[in-house]
Amino acid sequence: MVRLVIFDFWNTLAKNADGRSIEALRRKLCLPKGRLSRTRYWDFMARTSMVHPSGDPKRFFPRFLRTMGLAPSGERLETLCRFYDHIDRRTTYIAGMPAIVRQLKRRGYRLAIISETENSCRSFLDRNPRFASLFDVILLSFEQGMNKRGDGLYRRMASIARRRWGIGPQEIVMIGDSPRHDIAPARKVFGGAIRFRNTRALRQALRRKGIL
Ligand SMILES: [Mg+2]
Repeated sequence: MVRLVIFDFWNTLAKNADGRSIEALRRKLCLPKGRLSRTRYWDFMARTSMVHPSGDPKRFFPRFLRTMGLAPSGERLETLCRFYDHIDRRTTYIAGMPAIVRQLKRRGYRLAIISETENSCRSFLDRNPRFASLFDVILLSFEQGMNKRGDGLYRRMASIARRRWGIGPQEIVMIGDSPRHDIAPARKVFGGAIRFRNTRALRQALRRKGIL
């Protein structure tokens, strides 16, 4: 029986409209087409600021520019900071997800978040305290000092669940959009995982498993 439901944050509970912004950033930095993709940007973040205790990407932008083959001039750093503030402010819920979370809460499940993130996830949760308070445990990579590359965060959650509520790994299910960073490690460490594609499919999957 499932007793703890864990959510990934980005592209499962919330999203930032970064696609077009990253393309605009590429043009502003005068990088050739294809040089700066979403994958490349977020992969850099995952490896650096997401696991740094400050969680502040601005501290990593000089290094980011150097990996892009650019000298970290004041103007370029300012462009990156403006870009970061822009996408940070535009973080929004994935429609229908707060309702699912509240429903699970009412049904008595323990709820948690495991996220590979810089501090824009924490600032979103701070701006939405009622939503944040629905979760019993929130493990963010930069606060935990590890990212989702490896199953450390998942093992940490399993040990918290065992210690705090006597919940075993088989009673835990993870919901996330990434087959590699959410689904695979969760299947290894917990009882199960549900790949998030959209709210409707998630509702159906939760009903099939008798969770909702
Ligand atoms: Mg995600």
